[in-house]
Amino acid sequence: RALPADPSTRNVSRAVPGASYSHVAPTPVAAPSLLAWSDAMGAQLGLARPPLGAGAAAEILSGNRQVPGMRPYAARYGGHQFGQWADQLGDGRAITLGEVRAPDRQSWEVQLKGAGRTPYSRHADGRAVLRSSVREFLCSEAMHWLGIPTTRALSLVGTGEPVVRDMFYDGRPDAEPGAIVCRVAPSFVRFGSFEMHATHGETDILRRLADYVIATHYPELGVPSSATYLALFEEVCRRTAILAAHWTRVGFVHGVLNTDNMSILGLTIDYGPYGWLEGYDPTWTPNTTDAGTRRYRYGQQPNVALWNLARLGESLSPLIETPDDLHRGLEIYRETFDTSYGVMLRDKLGLDSIDTTGEDPLLVGMFTWLEATETDMTIFFRGLADVPVEDAAANDEQYLDPIRDAFYDAAALQGPHRGRVVDWLREYAARVRAEGRPRDERVARMHRANPKYVLRNYLAQLAIVATAEGDSSVIERLLRVLARPYDDQPGEDDLARRRPEWARNRAGCSMLSCSS
Ligand code: AMP
Ligand code: MG
Ligand code: MG
Repeated sequence: RALPADPSTRNVSRAVPGASYSHVAPTPVAAPSLLAWSDAMGAQLGLARPPLGAGAAAEILSGNRQVPGMRPYAARYGGHQFGQWADQLGDGRAITLGEVRAPDRQSWEVQLKGAGRTPYSRHADGRAVLRSSVREFLCSEAMHWLGIPTTRALSLVGTGEPVVRDMFYDGRPDAEPGAIVCRVAPSFVRFGSFEMHATHGETDILRRLADYVIATHYPELGVPSSATYLALFEEVCRRTAILAAHWTRVGFVHGVLNTDNMSILGLTIDYGPYGWLEGYDPTWTPNTTDAGTRRYRYGQQPNVALWNLARLGESLSPLIETPDDLHRGLEIYRETFDTSYGVMLRDKLGLDSIDTTGEDPLLVGMFTWLEATETDMTIFFRGLADVPVEDAAANDEQYLDPIRDAFYDAAALQGPHRGRVVDWLREYAARVRAEGRPRDERVARMHRANPKYVLRNYLAQLAIVATAEGDSSVIERLLRVLARPYDDQPGEDDLARRRPEWARNRAGCSMLSCSS
């Protein structure tokens, strides 16, 4: 059974009860120009790379021109924002053009973010700025190559129209270039899509949404019934746990884990004020809007995902005969997170004999000293594979050399901290030797778990500045290098270095607001 559409065709901001979506066309833009293209996503959809600049691709990927078969719509959803129910809030600027059946038979939803106002736009303009669009385009592709479930990006189009936001850009107050990302996923349905119908007592629509999601994306769960809805919840819990473990593994901080930014498929969704840990710090968040409580800080993400799952469970409870059983899903979340993250930690350290429940002194010690002095998480774990652990006779300098670049403050390796780090490395080395695995095997395993290249916040900023000046080479280089994040790539080492000091605490580089 199809999901109910909004019967009204008035495209003005309004409450839209009784519907899952509204048909709405993108609002044309002045001068669309194709700025970037993902060859990998294009190939997946069976699309060849079009020329950059103005032209047919830019017309279509900006929403200016529709092709036969498109029937654009905006989805209706709500969400808990920073812990509070915020009611209907989306989708105010993402318009789905349609679904594409790819050559591999997989079905993909193709959506334009920043395509203009919809009935869900509230007081906002339905547009996106170039800087956030570059960030979403690059990071969603980078996450894919890291092996982390995510929505994807096909293209980035400049609109040729200014957009007014809360930030000074390029010396001009307020107005900045606008852009549209074409993003792609099997589905963009969120926890908030279910919450919306549940909160408004639209139980029939809630059921149809659940049935649609099961039939389309979880067919293995079988014919919908109370037990099937429970199984759906459990599967979403399982996938979300794996997702949260991956974020923790690579030091990714989403920044706005509201329930409307939680995918029913367990994908990373909505790249706004996200960031990557540089100095290892569980309390860090890139989102300046969240500076007070730091609800969405790095170390809190696994708990927040669980809180969000509890809201999804509540929303599904009208469909379930024994709602108490929803607790099982939350248990599955905890078990899956612990198991998955445990495996990932063992891979990151190249060690099997560690107790990942938090009691192992080797782990506790490592996280304590990593946090005590600003130490780059990515560089430390990547370098750890090269510490000469097999050689007990190596001196302290030889032990420190492979991870020396991880310290933001060179003085950190003088004074008492140095002893702590060296003692830890020697303890670690003894554990590795006790396991007695071949070195090559250990290094390969560690490299697969510890990326060398991540989209450091300042790198995204460099891509934004270049793209705004009409130079697509930076974005293309990043896309190419980030497509092989676990490989050593000679000639690309500058992209794997510590964040330069000019980028510290700088807007765009490590601090972003929700409206990003
Ligand atoms: P976010 O915090 O980015 O998840 O935004 C929450 C919701 O606000 C989104 O789902 C959008 O529907 C809506 N929104 C954000 N920015 C805009 C905008 N510029 N115009 C219209 N709606 C927006
Ligand atoms: Mg969002
Ligand atoms: Mg957003």
